[in-house]
Amino acid sequence: MGTMTAQIISGAELAKEKRAQLAKEVERLKREGIEPGLAVILVGDDPASHSYVKGKQKACAEVGIRSTLLTFPATITEEFLLGKIKELNEDPSVHGILVQLPLPKHINELKVIETISPEKDVDGFHPINVGRMMVGQDAFLPCTPYGILVMVKSIGVDIAGKHVVVVGRSNIVGKPVGQLFLREHATVTYCHSRTNDLPSITRQADILIVAVGKARLIGAKHVKQGAVVIDVGVNRLENGKLCGDVDFEEVKEVASYITPVPKGVGPMTITMLLHNTIEAAKKHAVRKVH
Ligand code: NAP
Repeated sequence: MGTMTAQIISGAELAKEKRAQLAKEVERLKREGIEPGLAVILVGDDPASHSYVKGKQKACAEVGIRSTLLTFPATITEEFLLGKIKELNEDPSVHGILVQLPLPKHINELKVIETISPEKDVDGFHPINVGRMMVGQDAFLPCTPYGILVMVKSIGVDIAGKHVVVVGRSNIVGKPVGQLFLREHATVTYCHSRTNDLPSITRQADILIVAVGKARLIGAKHVKQGAVVIDVGVNRLENGKLCGDVDFEEVKEVASYITPVPKGVGPMTITMLLHNTIEAAKKHAVRKVH
């Protein structure tokens, strides 16, 4: 077997390019009197959630989106939170609403998501947007799956007819990413924790997308020579370092393209959030009359 070293798909580089384009678009909108606005709700004091929210706010500032952060203690009631969301639904200066997950156990996440107006659901988690995506209507696409699609398209691979294997079937990554590639005419297979003989299935993938949350679950034996490998996982090792679900060192010798962790899917996820917020503003902004 000949060895090859995969090319790295840099999410960070691609995100930088896309964000420069988005910044220009925001400038143009502002000249028309529209300032895209995102409201972010953060409940409780989970350090990972705080750091994700900080990253999203920084990215908003970078492209000129006005972001407003609402932080609440973990002790708030579900009713209070739903009330806040309803206020934001009515606020014309807010085009996108994002509730950082996970929420405290006593708050029903689905109920919260369903309270966000589908027209402001820039995370693409509302069942209306999920349904619209499924039937091919115009919808906010969930940011991580959308970012993955943009990354794969960036390498110029023809997706039609390719076998895409997705490991993981969560509502925020696995399930929707498979749907997006199906829309692009790929043949899609889903794997999960009950899958028998995972390597025999992942080895059939032309494009392998892994979203599990288990450090180095996928090794060279799981990957076909020349496959494109997208690693969504973010795992913190004992030494404090971040690592993906894919054993990067091993798999890069087999794959043709691979995404790193960090600086892979993460930056593209945030970029698609910016994109969705700008789209929301374009669609629903009440234009100021000069
Ligand atoms: P999740 O909701 O925990 O889902 C994990 C999925 O992996 C489940 O479908 C589970 O199967 C499957 N699974 C678990 N063990 C498995 C195994 N041994 N073999 C095959 N499948 C297995 O996770 P998630 O929210 O989708 O996130 C997945 C990872 O991506 C996490 O590390 C998360 O931090 C990361 N993530 C990154 C970004 C980003 O922007 N970079 C965004 C979102 C998530 P069952 O359904 O059978 O339980």
